[in-house]
Amino acid sequence: MMIIKEFIANLALLGTLLFLYSQVIMKKPLHLHSAVKMKIIAGLSGGVISIVLMLFSINIGDLLVDLRFIPTLLLAFYGGAIPALISMTMTIICRFIISTDVISVYALIISVTGTLFGIFFSRVKISAVLRILSIYTFNNMIFSIFFIYLSEDTAIIKEVLIFYWLISYISTFLTFYLIRYIRESQALFAKYKNDSLTDSLTGLNNVRKFDEEFNRFVQDVKDSDQQLSLLYIDIDYFKKINDTYGHKEGDIVLIELGARLQKATRSFDIVSRNGGEEFTVLLLDCPSARAVEIAERIRVSVEKDAFLLSTGKPIYITVSIGVASYRETTDNPSMLIDYADTALYQAKHVGRNRVCVAS
Ligand code: GH3
Ligand code: MG
Ligand code: MG
Repeated sequence: MMIIKEFIANLALLGTLLFLYSQVIMKKPLHLHSAVKMKIIAGLSGGVISIVLMLFSINIGDLLVDLRFIPTLLLAFYGGAIPALISMTMTIICRFIISTDVISVYALIISVTGTLFGIFFSRVKISAVLRILSIYTFNNMIFSIFFIYLSEDTAIIKEVLIFYWLISYISTFLTFYLIRYIRESQALFAKYKNDSLTDSLTGLNNVRKFDEEFNRFVQDVKDSDQQLSLLYIDIDYFKKINDTYGHKEGDIVLIELGARLQKATRSFDIVSRNGGEEFTVLLLDCPSARAVEIAERIRVSVEKDAFLLSTGKPIYITVSIGVASYRETTDNPSMLIDYADTALYQAKHVGRNRVCVAS
C-alpha cells in the first residue's frame, strides 16, 4: 500500500512540474522542427524534472523506482533526439551521483534502451496514442526484465510490477492528455492573439498592432539617436472603384496594394492597414530624404503597374502619400502620425497622386 501512495505522490509531482514547464519555460509547443535552442532548453528542463522525480524515488532494496523516464520519453515523442538525449544524459549523471554501483549501470542501460526506442518509435506512422503506448510499454518491459533479474526478494516482485505498470500507464495517459490540453490552449491563444492584431483582408498589421509598434518605436528612438519616418498612404478616389466594379473588386485592389507596400519596404519596416483604404509604413532608422524616395517609388509603381481585377481586367489607380520624419519634421516622435496625416491631406488638396512632406 505504501508503494501505491508513493507512486501517486510521484504522479502529482509530475503533473505539477509539467504544468509549470508549459507556463514558465516553454510557452510555444515543442516540435520535431523546433529551433535547436528551443530543443536544448526543453531537454535541460526535462532533465531537471526527471531529477526532481528521482529525488522522490521509492526505494525497493537497492533499486530506485520512479517516473523519471516519463519526461525523457515525452521529449523523444514531441521533440526528437536532441531534447531526449539531453534529458537522458542529465538523468543518468544524476543517478550515478546518487550511487555508483552495478544498479546504476543497469539503470543506465534501461534509460538508453528506452530513450533510443522512444526516439526511433516516435517517427513510426501510426496514431499518436498507439505510438505513445508502444514507447511506454517497451520501457516498462525493459524495466520489468531488469527488476525481476535484480530483485532478491521474489515476494515483492509481483506487487511492485503490478503497481509499476499500472502507474506507468496512468501517468503516461494523464501526462499525454495534460500536454495535449496545454498545447491546444497555447495554439488557440497564439491564434487569437495573432488574429486580434492582423487585418484579415490583407494580412498586414491592423491599427491596434500599428499603435503598439508605433509606441514601441517612439520610445526606442527617444532612447537612442535613431531616426524614424512614417508614410501615410491613401488610395485616390477609391469610392469610385467600389462604385464601378463592386466592393469585392475593391477588396482585391486593397490586397494587391498591401502586397506591393510590403515588397517596396524592408522586412523589419512596419506595414499596416489602418482602416478602409488607408495604409501606413513605419520606416525604421530612416531619414526624411530616404523616406521620400521610398514613397515616390511606391507612388510611381502604383500609377504605372495595373491592378488586375478578378476577371483579369487591368485597372489603374493612384495613391497620395504624406511623409513625416523624426528629427527633420518634428523633435517629438509621438507627433509623427498627426504630421503625416496633415501632409497626406495636403497631397490630396493639391491634386492627388503625389508625395507631400510635412514641414
Ligand atoms: P480620396 O481621393 O479623397 O481619398 O477619395 P476616396 O473615394 O478614396 O475617399 P473616401 O474616404 O470618400 O472613400 C473611401 C472608400 O473606401 C469608401 C469605402 O466604400 C471604401 N472602403 C473602406 N473600406 C473598404 C473595404 O474594406 N473594402 C472596400 N472594397 N472598400 C472599402
Ligand atoms: Mg481615398
Ligand atoms: Mg480615406
